[in-house]
Amino acid sequence: MAPLDVDRPYRLNSSVALRPESFGALAYSYDNRQLAFLKTPRLLEVLRALDGASSASAALSAAGVPAPDRSVYTAALQRLADTDVLEAVPGERWESGLTSMPASGGVSGAVARAGAGAAGDLGGGGDRDGNRPGRLTDRFKSGLAAPICLTWELTYACNLACIHCLSSSGRRDPDELTTAEAMSVVDAMAEMGIFYVNIGGGEPTVRPDFWSLLDHAVDRRVGVKFSTNGVRLDAAAARRLADTDYVDVQISLDGATAETNDAIRGTDAYAMARRAMDELAAADFGPFKISVVVTRHVVPELDALSELAAGYGAQLRLTRLRPSGRGAQTWPQLRLDQDQQRQVYRWLMAHPDVLTGDSFFHLSALGEPLPGLNLCGAGRVVCLIDPVGDVYACPFVLHERFRAGSVRDPGGFPSLWRGAPLFRELRAPGSAGACTSCGLYDACQGGCMAAKFFTGIALDGPDPECVLGHGEAALTAAAAAAIPSPGPGHSRRPVPVSIGRRP
Ligand code: SF4
Ligand code: SF4
Repeated sequence: MAPLDVDRPYRLNSSVALRPESFGALAYSYDNRQLAFLKTPRLLEVLRALDGASSASAALSAAGVPAPDRSVYTAALQRLADTDVLEAVPGERWESGLTSMPASGGVSGAVARAGAGAAGDLGGGGDRDGNRPGRLTDRFKSGLAAPICLTWELTYACNLACIHCLSSSGRRDPDELTTAEAMSVVDAMAEMGIFYVNIGGGEPTVRPDFWSLLDHAVDRRVGVKFSTNGVRLDAAAARRLADTDYVDVQISLDGATAETNDAIRGTDAYAMARRAMDELAAADFGPFKISVVVTRHVVPELDALSELAAGYGAQLRLTRLRPSGRGAQTWPQLRLDQDQQRQVYRWLMAHPDVLTGDSFFHLSALGEPLPGLNLCGAGRVVCLIDPVGDVYACPFVLHERFRAGSVRDPGGFPSLWRGAPLFRELRAPGSAGACTSCGLYDACQGGCMAAKFFTGIALDGPDPECVLGHGEAALTAAAAAAIPSPGPGHSRRPVPVSIGRRP
């Protein structure tokens, strides 16, 4: 890392977008897909002042940084330069080495960096070096100017019928957003400063206007991370993707072998996904992602999946199984037991480069916290737009209880995000409920709201997979009560579940 020279000019990297927030700002790099948190509004002013300033020092002065604070702000700029948010303005004087100055101070804590993963992806908040966002998470709980992790399901149509599908996809809904409506949604995202959107389905690539929507998003500088089972990802599509900036591809695979994967995703789904990966590799797309839902059958294959990803130069991404959509029916057979939860926790701790979208934060109660914000982001930093334009608090709570409204409502998505009563409710301080006396609450936060809701556990009760085992009693107590049924199904036919029951 080159030391910051306060006497030379710096500028914001052209691949970085800034979005002001109440605590300061978010900075997102389209190059390295990293999110940085600027924890003071003054630091945002410094960054803005860099534009046209003769030096970093001049920008600090222009932004009114008091003398006693300069070392702290200089250290923050150093960290932003280290993470490629800032770059030195090229110039002969500096390239010839006439001036150099060591960076002052250590990491200030004024900036915390987070890996911005896909779908769902909050993707990790804070490094493992102790520079965690800390109280920043409290600011996140009260909501942001725009979601960090916005999932958009483009269609319910799907060629597969995975037995854990969170949106029970299969048939297209005749009321799905038209191309013009979908383009307007993209425009709204751009105006809100949304850095990227996680596109899924159904299988999004079967929508005839998929490529037009993708191009429109990229043109508006809304990055696209889309999930696919690979059905339309042939050589031409792979080349097209490799030639497009701001696009990440995530191939869904639920096992390292055809036997494991196809038991979940259907016959030949493994071969189809591998063909798509081969095409991406042949087109030199770069590090695409392999996205795996962790069922009990996947746990013994984690090492093999990691090797598979490494063989492609791809990134592995693991997601927690939730009892949502068709997963409500199959969760009892597919979910992990306590031994497997501990295995997954240890494995994740030993593989810090594996992305999780923060979805295993309930496992942080087992020891050292997993990287991430470790909070339920529903309606705070996360939300979902479904194929007919309905907006839900998160991709795993497709139920009327968590429907905020529709993008077709007056004011559209921006108005819902800013003011929907549901989102205000979710952003208000809540009580720890049944977890109040648990010493692990800070780490686990009571777990996943969706997992509780669709198993009939009170929202302030313990996670059904609580690592202390409190979920089992809560599940037993909930069995007699009415368990909410998942949202409207779109399955083409009843999905056969042939996979073995838990012993
Ligand atoms: S409800 Fe669960 S899946 Fe949704 S944001 Fe909260 S923790 Fe994540
Ligand atoms: S009792 Fe609640 S806070 Fe404690 S580990 Fe279980 S779910 Fe988490």
